[in-house]
Amino acid sequence: MTHVSPLPKHYLSDKVEHFTESVIREMTRQAMLHNAINLAQGFPDFAAPAEIKKAAQEAIEGDVNQYAITWGAKNLRNAIARQMKEWQGIDVDPEKEVVVCCGSTEAMIATLLAVCNRGDEVVVFEPFYENYGPDAVLSGAKPRFVSLRPPQTPDGEWAFDHQELREAFQHHTKAIILNTPNNPTGKVFSLKELELIRDLCVEYNVLAITDEIYEHILYEGAEHISIARLDGMRERTITINGLSKSYSVTGWRVGWAVAPPAITNAIRKVHDFLTVGAPAPLQEAGATALSLPATYYRDLAEKYRTRRDHLIPALEKAGFRCYRPRGAYYVMTDISSFGFANDVEFARYLVKEVGIACVPGSSFYKHPKDGSQQVRFAFCKKPETLDAAAERLHKVRQK
Ligand code: GLN
Repeated sequence: MTHVSPLPKHYLSDKVEHFTESVIREMTRQAMLHNAINLAQGFPDFAAPAEIKKAAQEAIEGDVNQYAITWGAKNLRNAIARQMKEWQGIDVDPEKEVVVCCGSTEAMIATLLAVCNRGDEVVVFEPFYENYGPDAVLSGAKPRFVSLRPPQTPDGEWAFDHQELREAFQHHTKAIILNTPNNPTGKVFSLKELELIRDLCVEYNVLAITDEIYEHILYEGAEHISIARLDGMRERTITINGLSKSYSVTGWRVGWAVAPPAITNAIRKVHDFLTVGAPAPLQEAGATALSLPATYYRDLAEKYRTRRDHLIPALEKAGFRCYRPRGAYYVMTDISSFGFANDVEFARYLVKEVGIACVPGSSFYKHPKDGSQQVRFAFCKKPETLDAAAERLHKVRQK
C-alpha cells in the first residue's frame, strides 16, 4: 500500500498563493448543494434569442467545426467593428484592431499578460469584480485599489475621491481597469468622471483597459460611454466586451478586445498560445447577434429594469438596504440590520436556511472587513425565479 503524501509547497507556483478560488463560482456550487435559488453568479436562467440559437445550429450543421482564424472569424470581427462605430462612433479596423477570445474573461487576462511587466501596477476601483486581482497577479503586476464609496442617499451614486485616484497613478502605473456599467455596484461612470480618468491616463501615460460587458444593460436613461471615444484615449485604450450578457449566452465563451494595432498584435500572440481561438460556430452566431436591431437592446434593458424593480422591494421588505443600480444586473445590499458577524456567515445562513444564494461582499474588496456587511444579489432571472426568491425572503430573520 503506497501512501500519498500532501503536495510539497515547492511543486506550486508562488502566484497561486496570492489569490483564492472564485467565491462567486463557489456560491453556485453551494446553491446546487442546498437546492437554493441561485442569485449569486450572474447568469440568466432564461433563453437566449431564438435567432442566435438558430445561427449557432446552422453553423454547426454547415460544418463550421474547425478552428477559426486565431484572432477571430472575419464575420464576427466585422460585426464588432460595425457595432463600435454605430454605438460609440469609434472607427475600428477589423483586420488590425480586434482579438476574439474565449469570453471577456480571457480577453482581460490576455490583455494584462500582453501589456504588464513585473513591478507594474494596475489601478482598480473597489469594490471590484473578483477576476481583476488574480488577473493582475498572474500577469506579474500589482493591483492598487481606489475606493468607490457607497451613496449616502437612496438616489446617490457610488463615488471616488479625485485626489485618491491621482495618487494611485503615481506608482509605476501601467493601466487602469475600468468596468462600466459596473459589477458589483451598478455604477455607470459619467462623462465627467471619464474625462477625469482620461486626464490622468494622458498625464501619466497610462493605459485604460475597460470591461464593458454590461454596455446594453442601463436604467433610467443612463448612457454608456466607452472611454476610447474621448480625445486622447483611442490610442491608449483596450475595450473589452463579449456576447455573454447582451445576448444571455454566458456559457458560449465568446468575448473580444479592441485596441490599437501594436497592442492588438501583442494580445493576439498571448491569446494564440493561451487558447488558439474561441468556438468557431459560436463566433458565426455572434455575428448574427451583433446584427440584431436596436429594439432588441431597448427590450433587453426594459426587461432588466422590471426584474430589478421586482427584486429590490422584496429585499427591502426583508430588511436589506439596497444600493439601486443604474446599470448591469446586480444589486449590492447592506446587511447590518440583521446582526450577523460578517457577510460570509450571513451568506452561509441564507443559502442553507433560507434557500437563496448570494455573493458575500468581502469577495469584492481587498480587505474582507470592508465588505463584511454587504452581499450582492443577481437579478438576471425569470419573473417566477424572482417570485420564488421573494417568497423565501420572508424567512430571513435577525441573528
Ligand atoms: N460576471 C458574473 C458575476 O459576476 C459571472 C462571473 C463568472 O463566474 N464568470 O457573477
